[in-house]
Amino acid sequence: MCGKLGEKHLKRLVEVVGEQNVFIQPKAIEDYTHDMAEYEAVPAVVVRPEREEQVAEVVQLASEANIPVVARGAGSSLTGAAISQGGIVIDTRRMDKVVSIDTVNWYVDVQPGISLEDLNRQLKPHGFFFPPDPASSYICTVGGAIAEGSGGLRCVKYGTMKDWVLAVRVVLANGKVTKFGEALSKNRAGYDLVHLMVGSEGTLGVVTEAWLKIIPIPSAKTKRFLVTFDDWQSTGEVIKKLRSSRILPNLFEFLDRDNIHALNEKLGMSYDEAEATLLVDVDEKEVPLVEGIFRECGALKIMAARDAEEEEAFYQARSMAYLAVKSLATGIQVEDVSLPIDKLGDYLKLVKRVAAKYGLQIPVNGHAGDGNVHPTILFEKSDPKSRDSANLAFEEICRWAISMGGSVTGEHGVGIQKPKFMREQMLAHDGEEALRLMKEVKNLFDPNSIMNPGKYVEAA
Ligand SMILES: Cc1cc2nc3c(=O)[nH]c(=O)nc-3n(C[C@H](O)[C@H](O)[C@H](O)COP(=O)(O)OP(=O)(O)OC[C@H]3O[C@@H](n4cnc5c(N)ncnc54)[C@H](O)[C@@H]3O)c2cc1C
Repeated sequence: MCGKLGEKHLKRLVEVVGEQNVFIQPKAIEDYTHDMAEYEAVPAVVVRPEREEQVAEVVQLASEANIPVVARGAGSSLTGAAISQGGIVIDTRRMDKVVSIDTVNWYVDVQPGISLEDLNRQLKPHGFFFPPDPASSYICTVGGAIAEGSGGLRCVKYGTMKDWVLAVRVVLANGKVTKFGEALSKNRAGYDLVHLMVGSEGTLGVVTEAWLKIIPIPSAKTKRFLVTFDDWQSTGEVIKKLRSSRILPNLFEFLDRDNIHALNEKLGMSYDEAEATLLVDVDEKEVPLVEGIFRECGALKIMAARDAEEEEAFYQARSMAYLAVKSLATGIQVEDVSLPIDKLGDYLKLVKRVAAKYGLQIPVNGHAGDGNVHPTILFEKSDPKSRDSANLAFEEICRWAISMGGSVTGEHGVGIQKPKFMREQMLAHDGEEALRLMKEVKNLFDPNSIMNPGKYVEAA
C-alpha cells in the first residue's frame, strides 16, 4: 500500500531543495502530467534538485513515507514511463553539467539532466561526439536516454545507449548512493550492473552521474540521399542488398507517404509523396555501388544532398516526422517493434493491411538499418469506437512482430504501454524464467516498489 504525501513531507522537501524548486499547484505541475505520447497522470509534487545529495534525501523521504518516486528528464517518453499518479516527480534538468571531458581516455563525465544535443555541442570543440541520437536529442536527457536504453538515427552504425555507458552513480530505493562500473575501456569486476540500469526505466534507481564513451568526429567524407520508391517490396530489397554488399550506412531511415504528407502539410516541407522514402547516408567511396543498388531496385527519384544545409534538412525531415504525424489526430499510439532485418519489407506491408482492416491511418517510419519500425496509430480520442479499433490494431501489430521473431520494443521501452506484450514476447521466445528473474531483480532493488511503480517488468 502506498503512502500519501502530507504537510510534513512537503515541509521536508522544501528544506531539501528550496521552496522555489517544489511545485504542487496544478498550473506549475501541468507540464509533468503527461509524456509526449499523451499518457496522463497527476503527481502529488514535483521537485527540482541540483545535487546528488538532494536526490538521495528526496528518495529517502519517499522510502520512509512509502510514496512513489519517478525520475524525469524531458518527459519525451512515448510509453507512459515518465508520469506518476500521486507520487514525487524528480525533475533532473537542473543537474545539467558536463563534469569533465577526457580526450585521452575518451569519455565524458556528465550529470543526468543535460540534453544529448547540448552534450554534443560541448564535445564538438574538442573534436569528439557522443553517437546515440534519438530524434528527440534536442530535448531528451542523458538520464532519460540511459533509463530508456534509447536508440536513434545513427545507431545503425554506432549502436544504442547500451553500447556507450561505462559507469553510473545511482541513488537506490533506500536513499543510499552507489557507483556501478568504472570509467575504463575494460572492467570485468562483478556482475554488469551498469547495463542493468540501461533500459531500467526509472524502476531500479535514479542515475545522478554518468561516464559515457565518446569518439572522434569522423573525418571520412559522406553523402546523404533521399530516395523514393513506389512500393515496400523494392524498399525491402534495397535494405537486403545494401547489407549483403557489406555496406554499413551512417544513417538508414525510412518514412511512408503519410509521414511525408504530414511533414509537407504541417511543417511546410515539400518532398515527393511517394509510397516509401529512404534516408541513407554513406561514405563517399561507396556512392557508386549504393546508387547502383537504388536504381536496380526501381528507385523513382534519387536526391543527393548538395551541401551541409540540405543534409541537415533531410535529417530534420526524419527527426520531425513524429511531431508532424502527431498533429494529424487527437489520439495517437506509437509502436516501436524491432524485427529481423530481412523481414522488414514483409512487416511494413502487413502494417498497411492492419490499417485497412480497422479503417485507421497508421503512418510508419523507422530505422531501416536496424529493423526498428514505428507504426503510429492515429485515432479520434473522443470516439470510443475509434479508440477500440486503435487498441485492436496495436495488439495485432505487436503480435505479428512477436510471431516473426521480433521484439515489441527496440528503443522506446515498455512503460505502461506494453507490459502485457512484453510478457507475451518473453513467453513466446522461451523467456519465462528470464521474466521471473527480472521480477526478482526489481524486488531486490526496490522491495517496497516505490520507484516508478506499477510499470514495465513489475506489470508484465
Ligand atoms: C519526437 C520524438 C522522437 C523520439 N525519437 C526517439 C528515437 O529516435 N529513439 C529513441 O530511442 N527514443 C525516441 N524517443 C523517445 C524518448 O525521447 C527517449 O526515450 C528519450 O531518451 C527519453 O529521454 P527523456 O529525458 O525525455 O526521459 P523521460 O521521458 O523524462 O523519462 C523516460 C524514462 O526514464 C526515466 N528517467 C529519466 N531520468 C532518469 C534518471 N536520471 N535516472 C533514472 N531514470 C530516469 C523516467 O523515470 C522514465 O521511466 C522520441 C520521442 C519523441 C517525442
